[in-house]
Amino acid sequence: VLRPVTLESSADDLVVLTFLLVLSVQGFVLQALRLAVERDPWAAWSFVSYPMSLVLQGLPERLLRSLHLVNWWSHMLTTTVFLAYVAFSKMIHPFTGLASVVFRRLQPAGRLEPVENLEEAERFGIAGLQDFTWAQLLHADACMHCGRCLEYCPTFHTGKPLRPRDLILEIAGYVADRGGIFSGELGQGMNTARFRWGSGAERELIGGVVSTEEIWDCTTCGACMEQCPVYIEHVPLIAGMRRNLVLERGEFPGELTGVFNNLERLGSPYQFRPAQRADWTKKLAQPVPEMADVAASGEEVEYLFWVGCLGSFDGRNQRTTIALTRILHAAGVRFAILGHEETCTGDPARRAGNEYLAQLLARQAVETLNAYQVKRIVTACPHCFNAIKNEFPQLGGHYEVVHHSQLISELLAQGRLRLDPDSAIARGKVTYHDPCYLGRYNRVFDEPRAAISALPGVELAEMRRNRSRSFCCGGGGGRMFMEESRGRRINQARVAEAQATGAEVLAAACPFCMTMFEDGIRGAGVEGNLRVLDIAELVAGSLVTPQEDGTTTAEGTYEPSG
Ligand code: SF4
Ligand code: SF4
Repeated sequence: VLRPVTLESSADDLVVLTFLLVLSVQGFVLQALRLAVERDPWAAWSFVSYPMSLVLQGLPERLLRSLHLVNWWSHMLTTTVFLAYVAFSKMIHPFTGLASVVFRRLQPAGRLEPVENLEEAERFGIAGLQDFTWAQLLHADACMHCGRCLEYCPTFHTGKPLRPRDLILEIAGYVADRGGIFSGELGQGMNTARFRWGSGAERELIGGVVSTEEIWDCTTCGACMEQCPVYIEHVPLIAGMRRNLVLERGEFPGELTGVFNNLERLGSPYQFRPAQRADWTKKLAQPVPEMADVAASGEEVEYLFWVGCLGSFDGRNQRTTIALTRILHAAGVRFAILGHEETCTGDPARRAGNEYLAQLLARQAVETLNAYQVKRIVTACPHCFNAIKNEFPQLGGHYEVVHHSQLISELLAQGRLRLDPDSAIARGKVTYHDPCYLGRYNRVFDEPRAAISALPGVELAEMRRNRSRSFCCGGGGGRMFMEESRGRRINQARVAEAQATGAEVLAAACPFCMTMFEDGIRGAGVEGNLRVLDIAELVAGSLVTPQEDGTTTAEGTYEPSG
């Protein structure tokens, strides 16, 4: 018998199971005693109690009636005690779970709620009982310890301290000790029985009940929330505690200091000047128009190409940017970039707890986009995609935004891109990794697969964990900028899964995933067996484009990284 790694039992489970067993036995015996006296013509339908009643029929009726009376009262008593116990056992979940489902957050899962009136706020994030919303308190109480949130959690599967179920039970225990019906000295024992981690009224939430390692290990991949049957939202809780650490205490991993400084001074996590944002365009023969010039000339574009910080500055991801630009040119899509006017969307800052910086950057981006009256945006970065789609509306930015995989698959379906059947950029099996902020958070699963499947000579091979049950690359939530010092490396775990498909190409659709997988492949020493290519690179590398002499050729070839 294989015991699932997510299964965990406690004294509470034993008590509940004992109650259920005793109640069942009492019920069957009660029925058997009745049948033995009454000789009910329907008795045979009671398939457990009937055979028992046949044995009991030999006893005197007076004795049977007395036993029935005693058993009835003991059954009633057990039921009453069990109902009382339900209030402080996990068996409360049919009630709290139902309430948790009814009062679930109806906003998009990829949207974190902003801190309102940031300038005037006196408390930031979650550091104590008073900082939770009533819905968060209700959700924490609804946890049924099922462990489904662990099934696809990258930190759990790589041996890190963060286990989303434990996190919720820690918070629930903390809340119960301070404000629950069993708060106070007597109640602490009861809360410990229910949550296994009764926190003790003197322990602080952050650093006492929930460790800072748990708070910073999260990649915000959302796999826990996707799986939770009662819609408990772990990521907003973690982001709330990060906010408190960053904005109130100034405590965060040292690697983030430079990132925050760069974001504040330069508008990107890197030490590049804004004027260098469009330097990648110098590598292209065909010019890439900027919005300022387009607006000045009175022309209009179909799409604003939001390049993103990694796509602009990171050498490896610039190749994706260039590939996408070639595709847009080849399909005749009229587009422009913001160039030096583009900034970070604020996604890494927000998910790393720096809400102040996140709002600053997002406001600046929305102002720029609104000034140009931008309507449609295409981006190759799912983090930018999610921020523009789900979080910019909080600040007055309303745009139609598509991920590049969606636009590419549309252009392919419309016949606006011609692929060379002899293209050799990728042959045979290609496996695709669903980026969390594209797939799980924004339900874009089919278009990237359609684009890959359209490639000549390519067979799409799925990894064991895919689509909404995909396994994170380890780079979200600001984790890409932090050291991974605990447990095994998440990116290498995912690279091993990709290798298990027998594919030689791991198709990515996110610059964060690209960076994590390039590292993971190098770290695992499998450079000779597996390479990572963005969907745009795969398609651009197979394009047929007209040449000056009237012939056609494949647009690009794969250049090994490094
Ligand atoms: S968001 Fe991802 S890493 Fe964080 S707790 Fe949930 S499953 Fe684990
Ligand atoms: S999936 Fe939800 S209910 Fe189940 S253990 Fe995790 S948080 Fe609790």
